Amino acid sequence: EVLINQIAAGEVVDRPASVLKELLENSLDASARVVEVQLQQGGVKQIRIADDGCGIAEDQLGLALERHATSKIASLDDLERVATMGFRGEALASIASVARVTLTSRTQGGAHAWRIAAGETSPAPAALNGGTVIEVADLYWNVPARRKFLKSEATEFGHCDDVFRRIALARPDVAFQLQHNGRVTQRLAPGDAARRCREILGEEFIANARAVEVEAAGLRLSGFAALPAYARATRDAQYFFVNGRFVRDKLIAHALREAYADILHGSRFPAFALFLDMDPAGVDVNVHPAKTEVRFREARAIHQFVRHAVSRTLASPVA
Ligand code: ADP
Ligand code: MG
Repeated sequence: EVLINQIAAGEVVDRPASVLKELLENSLDASARVVEVQLQQGGVKQIRIADDGCGIAEDQLGLALERHATSKIASLDDLERVATMGFRGEALASIASVARVTLTSRTQGGAHAWRIAAGETSPAPAALNGGTVIEVADLYWNVPARRKFLKSEATEFGHCDDVFRRIALARPDVAFQLQHNGRVTQRLAPGDAARRCREILGEEFIANARAVEVEAAGLRLSGFAALPAYARATRDAQYFFVNGRFVRDKLIAHALREAYADILHGSRFPAFALFLDMDPAGVDVNVHPAKTEVRFREARAIHQFVRHAVSRTLASPVA
């Protein structure tokens, strides 16, 4: 059981940033309005996340750390599923198999909070005003072969920061805070998409960007695309979301390259934060839960739409 979890963990939890992604998604699934993250030593030493979401009831706390009974690896098919799909509904169990995990939670209307550490059989009473606190300490303490693939503190923090920014951009309605080694690195108040883009990408980006707002045939592209003059030396300011989910997709990248191609030269990367909203039936986002690819049913149409929406916006005279 532990071994299976560790194999699963290897697929979904390859570094602190992927733990953070799962924890942030859980907080948002729990309808949190405020999410605070504290990292120690790039998240390797500790990731602590506190939210004001719905909480986990006492009798569910232990279950939240267990793998779902239906997903035992019994056949080659199952193994293949692990490789291609990762584990669904088993992130916490996977994380608990490779780190020291504690859950503290209080439901709305609960008389007090409850706390359980992975490996314990039942929760104990605890103090918490509401919501959930999850602590993940000493990632890969029990899997030295994996631990040695972790990079420097600065690199691991950088990956955590990337994950944090992507999720914060997609959910401007939620307040977020990020701390590293006791220092606040991001404090984001709830607001609209424009404000969140400004906070994440900076005043200079917004000052050099065009607002994108194009809708056609059930597709909508919104957000900001920087003018070519603001292109950066790395792709650190390239954010693309499909139905609220961050993607880094070949088709989309190509469409954007084309959109900028006429006006942009050299190897610099255009900066953008763009949100494509479409019928969920037209896109498969579960190609790999830990990766960022998607598969579009109407790939050609999507490519054309994104390309033209961006190039037209960039070419239009300033209003
Ligand atoms: P999944 O999110 O796919 O269901 P996870 O392993 O990520 O699987 O989480 C297991 C369960 O623990 C969730 O289904 C949810 O019920 C509960 N849970 C985890 N994190 C939170 C949270 N921050 N607030 C409320 N419930 C949570
Ligand atoms: Mg989850």
